[in-house]
Amino acid sequence: MTKGQVIKCKAAVAWEPGKPLCIEDVEVAPPKDHEVRIKISASGVCHTDWAYLYEASRGMYPRPFPLVLGHEGAGVVESVGEGVTKFSPGDKVIPLFLPQCGECERCLSPKTNLCKKNWQNTQMGVLADGTSRISCKGQQVYQFIGVGSFCQYTVVADTSVTKIREDAPLDTVCLLGCGVSTGYGAALNTAKVEPGSTCAVIGLGAVGLATVMGCKVAGATRIIGVDINPDKFEKAKEFGATEFVNPKEHSRPIQEVLVDMTDGGVDYALECVGNVTVMRAALEATKDAWGVCVIVGWTETEEMSLVVEDLLLGRTLKGTYFGGWKSVESVPKLVDDYMNKKLKLDEFVTHTVNLDQINEAFDLLTSGKSIRTVVKLMEILQPSGQR
Ligand code: NAD
Ligand code: ZN
Ligand code: ZN
Repeated sequence: MTKGQVIKCKAAVAWEPGKPLCIEDVEVAPPKDHEVRIKISASGVCHTDWAYLYEASRGMYPRPFPLVLGHEGAGVVESVGEGVTKFSPGDKVIPLFLPQCGECERCLSPKTNLCKKNWQNTQMGVLADGTSRISCKGQQVYQFIGVGSFCQYTVVADTSVTKIREDAPLDTVCLLGCGVSTGYGAALNTAKVEPGSTCAVIGLGAVGLATVMGCKVAGATRIIGVDINPDKFEKAKEFGATEFVNPKEHSRPIQEVLVDMTDGGVDYALECVGNVTVMRAALEATKDAWGVCVIVGWTETEEMSLVVEDLLLGRTLKGTYFGGWKSVESVPKLVDDYMNKKLKLDEFVTHTVNLDQINEAFDLLTSGKSIRTVVKLMEILQPSGQR
């Protein structure tokens, strides 16, 4: 029984920006009121984790260090704080960087998923009382966007976690905590891709591939995958891409190539890179009368330029946060879709590593060799022996 006690365990700690993660012994305090302590089984490594460590000065709001990164985790509830009614020890859960409190103006509106409960504090890596539950060598370690899943245990607000079915394999459904849900929802919820349409998905990492999957499910006829790394094309074909463009093979801007290929522009262009030049290219690749451009790639402070006429003529420019899904209610449904073989997840996992190899996961990501690397944190045995 660990309830009420400080748990000593391992975590990958980012001591400062630009430096590799260090595996450390950390202490995880018990959950306070309306908090849940989770034993993390596995966590995917998202581009956003890497970006906050290695590109913190480019386009991101500063975050305090030392920091435990990771926001694509899955695990089992270890204990709950006072006032927690929806979770019990042993529940399988996915922690969420985007909450759904169910009560605020935004949660009550069908127009958005952007619940801002605990927003200010989680953006700064702390829970509602202004502190983190993780410490190392007597120092507070911040929890990236309120999660911090590169730690064997973490504590989150009870509005930033969702319960999933018992038979879900944690080392794959963890991907629904960010990348796959984001891309899939970008196509379905944000772009609202229509049957018979033509789409361009720029950037074919996990987020882009999930976007391709969403475009296919929505019934798009042509799905043009764009990436500077042609190694991504084969996988994108499995997910439903019908044609490919490598910008490096063209002397002209990519938007011109796409406009020519589609007789005036695509119906939907989804930017899954996080580069403002590519974002503009995505907008300009859409058809003037009704084209929709969705920004999925992440950058917070950079400016993007565009020609006003491109909007005047009828294009729409939108962004998506977590694919537009209302997190607590949608993630368990996405888990069901995966279990019912309506949604692919296994195909995203190209590598699995132990916590002490976590820096290799970043190397695999930046070299373009991986789609998603899943980091194993804690062995969680089920009665059936299934993990
Ligand atoms: P990734 O690194 O696995 O994939 C990015 C892909 O883009 C790579 O295949 C790379 O070769 C390709 N690329 C790079 N430059 C390009 C260019 N100029 N033209 C075409 N392709 C190019 O990353 P990921 O984990 O799939 O994440 C993609 C983006 O989505 C990141 O910016 C990430 O931070 C962001 N993201 C956003 C949300 C959200 O809620 N909006 C959630 C998760 C991730
Ligand atoms: Zn992410
Ligand atoms: Zn809310």
